[in-house]
Amino acid sequence: MQHDVLIIGAGLAGMRAAYEANAQGANVALITKVYPVRSHSNAAQGGINAALTDRGDAWEDHAFETVKGSDYLGDQDSITILSQDAGPEIIALENMGVIFSRNEDGRLGTRRFGGQKKARTFFVSDFTGQAILHVLFEQILKTNIPTYNEWFVTSLVVKDGQCYGVVAMEMETGNVQFIQAKSVIIAAGGLGRVYEPSTNALICTGDGMGLAYQAGAPLMDMEMVQYHPTTLKANGLLISEAVRGEGGHLYNSKGERFMEKYAPNMLELASRDVVSRSEQTEINEGRGINGCVYLDCRHLGEKFIKERLSQVWEEAHTFSNVDMTKEPLPIRPGMHYQMGGVKTDNDGRCWDISGAGWGGIKGLFAAGEAACVSVHGGNRLGANSLLDTVVYGKRSGQAASAFARETSLQDIPSSIISKDEDMIKSLLSRKDNKDSVAAIRLEMGTTMNDHLAVFRDQKGMETALAKIRSLRERWKEVPIRSKGRIFNTTLINAMELGFMLDCAETIIVGALFRKESRGAHVRLDFRDRDDENWLKHTLIYKQPGAAPTVDTLAVRMTQWEPKPRVY
Ligand SMILES: Cc1cc2nc3c(=O)[nH]c(=O)nc-3n(C[C@H](O)[C@H](O)[C@H](O)COP(=O)(O)OP(=O)(O)OC[C@H]3O[C@@H](n4cnc5c(N)ncnc54)[C@H](O)[C@@H]3O)c2cc1C
Repeated sequence: MQHDVLIIGAGLAGMRAAYEANAQGANVALITKVYPVRSHSNAAQGGINAALTDRGDAWEDHAFETVKGSDYLGDQDSITILSQDAGPEIIALENMGVIFSRNEDGRLGTRRFGGQKKARTFFVSDFTGQAILHVLFEQILKTNIPTYNEWFVTSLVVKDGQCYGVVAMEMETGNVQFIQAKSVIIAAGGLGRVYEPSTNALICTGDGMGLAYQAGAPLMDMEMVQYHPTTLKANGLLISEAVRGEGGHLYNSKGERFMEKYAPNMLELASRDVVSRSEQTEINEGRGINGCVYLDCRHLGEKFIKERLSQVWEEAHTFSNVDMTKEPLPIRPGMHYQMGGVKTDNDGRCWDISGAGWGGIKGLFAAGEAACVSVHGGNRLGANSLLDTVVYGKRSGQAASAFARETSLQDIPSSIISKDEDMIKSLLSRKDNKDSVAAIRLEMGTTMNDHLAVFRDQKGMETALAKIRSLRERWKEVPIRSKGRIFNTTLINAMELGFMLDCAETIIVGALFRKESRGAHVRLDFRDRDDENWLKHTLIYKQPGAAPTVDTLAVRMTQWEPKPRVY
């Protein structure tokens, strides 16, 4: 079990990185806790952005709208790379076999997404993520890249500030193994389930961020948590932005199209933070409908809805008993995406070669939702995340294979696994105290949703921090009643919960630290954006046995000066 490049996660970011590292001649492997095509990337519906010049679009416009969407917190050189590489990346995916939906004239079709003036979102009906994920998986199979399927990574192996592989548990047997690598890429996805409810799959538990944080790498801008404007009340399921992109409207209980008031130009297609805040304001001020507002697309017609939004129609019908061709759908803002993550540079490196002084771990890389490059800053534009996974997945695959070429494997004793082995044994040997992993997880999720949602304030966040810290104490004693080692899902859930509590704490610590409102982070006690003092990233470091420490890092600006953000 020795590789040049080992990639944790086989979603879009991980597979794109693997494909690239393999093309560079590296011996690469993927390790994933679920079968690759079950990764959350599979759930992406709406699409992937790119400004193609032959459509009269320009990367500068895409970049500017991303910068503005980020509320000027995104690093502008990174955003430039994202928007410049987008076109070639879409064409590369098309050439691999992604059957993008077409226009009437037979060319690749686009739809309009929030925060953007042009229709530059490429899509495959409303299952874009699934289509791309399956095509990339075909490439992985075709090139014989080995995958450790249903293996759970429990820790990174770090010696003298450098990462040399991972310790992981094979779920089928419960055996703990050391897998050695010269470069390790964290592509382990988001942390959605730190909140309850969330649009994210149950497996989105922030393991990658937790692994890096535990090993000593900084997490950046963790307070920036995106609430998506359209989720189902009953279970938090996502209703894609594609519905508004294709022309859906939002109404309050008085039948007013309330976005006219908040974003007179872009209306429902203002950026997500703006729309979510507007909806929540309507609900809080008594113009909601049972804690929701209405999403109406009846005027688009049955044929159009069933053709372009078939999955959405089915979701609304199955889970809300609403036929979107005949009735408006009640929706509300819900937790969707983490803009922050493991701090990286533009090549996915999690260590500082620039001299800016943020530290990090050599040989460690990150990409996709687990990483913070940062291209999304305070608020991500719809359809920029799939783009981020492939553009920065590819770059990290390149850089990781180059790093591996200059690195030799270290002599690491196999006893390195004993810490994780002991941890698992101690988890399994705890006395029953009537508590459960599920109970702690639910309390954590509702606490975060109560106090770190669309609107925040000091008191609420302090309450949440105290609660999360008390939940951590309970987690240290939580019993696992099923004692077997073979596919013990409660055991896995308990380890995931440890990562989630780390993520929750860093979100709150970052949010308490940032004393302004920017992007998705809106504090009722600091209503305004404060560029003078807060046009900077937050970095959070773990301190063994003590509270985490927070530092800041300048935002890299190129050509776009901060302006008031109006839509
Ligand atoms: C419902 C939904 C719809 C979305 N729609 C869009 C959209 O239309 N457009 C857009 O741009 N973005 C969209 N997003 C966001 C986007 O899909 C995600 O941000 C992106 O797909 C994340 O990809 P990833 O490769 O980083 O991670 P994922 O696809 O989540 O993959 C994570 C991988 O890490 C592995 N892993 C995690 N922890 C461990 C561990 N401890 N050990 C081993 N393996 C581990 C998992 O097994 C998995 O393979 C959507 C998100 C959701 C939830």
